[in-house]
Amino acid sequence: MDLKQYVAIVEDYPKPGIKFKDITPLMNNGEAYKYATDQIVAYAKDKKIDLIVGPEARGFIIGCPVAYSLGVGFAPVRKEGKLPRETIKVSYGLEYGSDVLTIHKDAIKPGQRVLITDDLLATGGTIEATIKLVEQLGGVVAGIAFLVELTYLEGRSKLKGYDILTLMEY
Ligand code: AMP
Repeated sequence: MDLKQYVAIVEDYPKPGIKFKDITPLMNNGEAYKYATDQIVAYAKDKKIDLIVGPEARGFIIGCPVAYSLGVGFAPVRKEGKLPRETIKVSYGLEYGSDVLTIHKDAIKPGQRVLITDDLLATGGTIEATIKLVEQLGGVVAGIAFLVELTYLEGRSKLKGYDILTLMEY
C-alpha cells in the first residue's frame, strides 16, 4: 500500500518554511491505519518487546495499537506538568522550538525491552530525549519505529547504533 497518499503536506505550518506532514488522513482511513500498524508490529515481532514508549501526542496514536496487538503495555512520555506522579525529565530541541519531556519514574522496569514509537523523525531531538528517559530508567531500546522520516534533516545521525524503522521517507 502506498501510505504517502494518506499524508497531507501543509506548507508553512506551524511556521513559515516548515512543510508539515499531517498524518491524520492516514489515521482516518481504517485500512491505511491498520496497514501501518501491522508493518510496525511485524518489525517488532522478533525483538522480544516488553513495553512501548511514545512521546505525546502522535507517539500515542502510533504506539497504542502496536502495544495492543503485541499484548504489551504502553508508557506515555509527556510535556512537563502533565504526568501526575513522580517523574524524571530531560530537555530537548525541536525543528521549531525547545521543550522538556517527562516519564513516570516507575513506568519502566530495569532490563525491559522497549520499542519507541512516534509519527515522524525530523531533527531527532524528541526521540533522542525519549531514549534518554528510557535508558535512565534502565530500559533497553530494542527498536524505534516512525511512520515518516524527513531524511534531509538527518535525524538518524542522532540515533546511531539504534535499530530504526521508517515507513515513508521525504
Ligand atoms: P524532531 O524532534 O525534530 O525529530 O521532531 C519530532 C516531532 O515534531 C515529531 O514527533 C513530529 O510530531 C513533529 N514534527 C517536526 N517536524 C514536523 C513536520 N515537518 N511535519 C510534521 N510533524 C513534525
